[in-house]
Amino acid sequence: MSENQAATLYIVATPIGNLSDISQRAIDTLKEVDVIAAEDTRHSGTLLQHYSISTPMISVHEHNEQQRSEVLLARLQQGESVALISDAGTPLISDPGYRLVSLVREHDIRVVPIPGSCALISALSASGLPSDRFSFEGFLSSKQGARQQTLEALVNDSRTLIFYESPRRLQASLTDMVAVFGKDRTACLAREVTKLHETITTKPLADLLEWVSSDSNQQRGECVLLVEGIKEQVTSDEIEINHMLTILLKELPVKKAAAVTASLLDVSKNTAYDMALKLKQ
Ligand code: SAM
Repeated sequence: MSENQAATLYIVATPIGNLSDISQRAIDTLKEVDVIAAEDTRHSGTLLQHYSISTPMISVHEHNEQQRSEVLLARLQQGESVALISDAGTPLISDPGYRLVSLVREHDIRVVPIPGSCALISALSASGLPSDRFSFEGFLSSKQGARQQTLEALVNDSRTLIFYESPRRLQASLTDMVAVFGKDRTACLAREVTKLHETITTKPLADLLEWVSSDSNQQRGECVLLVEGIKEQVTSDEIEINHMLTILLKELPVKKAAAVTASLLDVSKNTAYDMALKLKQ
């Protein structure tokens, strides 16, 4: 039975390279909605043809999103269902759609995500870099000054940093990253993910720059750059607290061990408790 409902905006993820990377639910939705709002209707035509989807399309791109959002809102208000797709991956992720989704939600119309491919998540999942906390920074500026400023603001961030980058600017961005983050920070270049020439390589930044500079093939296709965050410094106070907690936790429950540590080392109970919890995990 179809789960599609009238007056609903579906945000449908499409493949980032490999045409098979689309869910059955996405295909069914694209077949059943009244209209597909696509970033580039010619580009999306190939995907729709491949899956025998004949739903009419309307273009929604960076330059007409405001006006098209009004048109689509009116159609939704009349009870039609709409699917938003972009050229690749998840709409709104460095792609159009934010204005449409916020407008539609302001009018209390249902917005339903149909999840699937996303270049940054695919790259992160295979990079070998910490994935518990990360920050997606989108595209860096094409201007060196602005790019360096952005990187400098991130230099003390301990999360894994993720950037989309054009292959033409890859070398320049890596050069700036070496200058700002240092040559030893671990980084990953995820290129042509899910495609024939997929290459996912993790090395210290300076080695990655050297490799990319010496092999022009690495400067082709689509790419994601990931940089490990700064390693959090452990202070000598923290070493002492951890040492005491480690001993006490062998005999006492977390709360009691934290309270004793806090009183003996004159630190806050909350700090000692959080550190005790981490040690227990
Ligand atoms: N909405 C898309 C998503 O969900 O990932 C991203 C769209 S953004 C306009 C396009 C950028 O995403 C490319 O310049 C590249 O940085 C990255 N990208 C898209 N497909 C990729 C792929 N197959 N391999 C590596 N990076 C990719």
